Amino acid sequence: MVKSILNKTNLSKEDITILLNSEGDNRIELLRKSAEIKEKQVGNKVYLRGLIEYSNVCAKNCYYCGIRKDNKNVTKYTISDREVIDAARFAYRNNYGSLVLQSGEIQSNAFADKIETLLKQIKKVSDNQLGITLSCGEQTEEVYQRWFDAGAHRYLLRIETSNKELYERLHPKDTLHNWDKRVECLYTLKKTGYQTGTGVMVGLPFQTIEDLAGDLLFMQQLDIDMCGLGPYIEHKHTPLYQYKNELIPLKKRFDLTMKMIAVLRIIMEDINIAATTALQVIDKIGREKIIKVGANIIMPNITPGEFRDSYSLYQNKPCTDESMEDCKNCLEARIKIAGCKIEYGNWGDSLHYRKSQEARASGNRLLVP
Ligand code: SAH
Ligand code: SF4
Repeated sequence: MVKSILNKTNLSKEDITILLNSEGDNRIELLRKSAEIKEKQVGNKVYLRGLIEYSNVCAKNCYYCGIRKDNKNVTKYTISDREVIDAARFAYRNNYGSLVLQSGEIQSNAFADKIETLLKQIKKVSDNQLGITLSCGEQTEEVYQRWFDAGAHRYLLRIETSNKELYERLHPKDTLHNWDKRVECLYTLKKTGYQTGTGVMVGLPFQTIEDLAGDLLFMQQLDIDMCGLGPYIEHKHTPLYQYKNELIPLKKRFDLTMKMIAVLRIIMEDINIAATTALQVIDKIGREKIIKVGANIIMPNITPGEFRDSYSLYQNKPCTDESMEDCKNCLEARIKIAGCKIEYGNWGDSLHYRKSQEARASGNRLLVP
């Protein structure tokens, strides 16, 4: 059954559900197929995005997240401009190629201006060399455009779950937490010209395998360029913690994440897929295992050490007490063990994005008499 599904060109929701449920030899066959496609499409190169967790100040109250507005147990911080620039310099000096600026969600002029200024400064101190991905939540079209013009060219906005009803169970019911609006933002990002990424959490309370199959089809339908999906990790100071006994065990959540990435690589062969940090909470070499199977992006944390503990989206975050250098060295060795190689000094843009740009350009050429 699994073998015949793996030979199909178009997978249905039922097919994907079967793949996500696969065990034993079937599971191995799935992972093997995905690794084969990865090798063929993106090779053994791994691209780095230095992750700067810019601020844990957030206006939202997502029920799963440790830095939600109403969690008063966390010290709020915003990194100074100088520290952001220092981190960018570190990424540039060490040939990371790109960085990600991520933060809680603030929709204000001051925040929009601040990010815009930082983007310009990062471009300046890196001689326009560093690629920049933003992950600063939902914003207006105008703000997305300003940030794009200031130098950001990739944007990561996870849909969290493609099931609207499930989304509503995981968020307060108000205008700030609106699934349709989040989807609209994803389309706006694409329209603006960003390489657009989305993703989901795996193993959320109330989530079914069918939901996860739907998530993968959602990504395919949106025709995303990149994906960052990872296991849901419960956090003590969040409302969802009350369901901790109903969750699937961490090891299973890890395995399901691995299968999600395998199926995603099979149905979207040339996109960029990140091995997310949350994987490491469950398995110390979790990201490396995921790289073997299908991911090709790693986001080493380059947030100044003093702030890392406070950016606690989930608990037991790895590497919060290590310096930037430590992370770089251990990463290199571990990626090598996974049979892959870090491709330094390269933006590592999504091949999918590049191909669709080329197709659009050649389509345009055909229209010109
Ligand atoms: N505020 C922005 C970006 C920062 S949050 C946004 O929400 O888009 C980045 C991601 O962290 C979220 O998209 C969510 O998928 C993930 N996250 C939050 N809480 C989590 C948890 N408890 N376990 C795993 N991932 C979590
Ligand atoms: Fe804020 Fe993002 Fe956390 Fe939601 S997931 S509370 S938007 S930081």
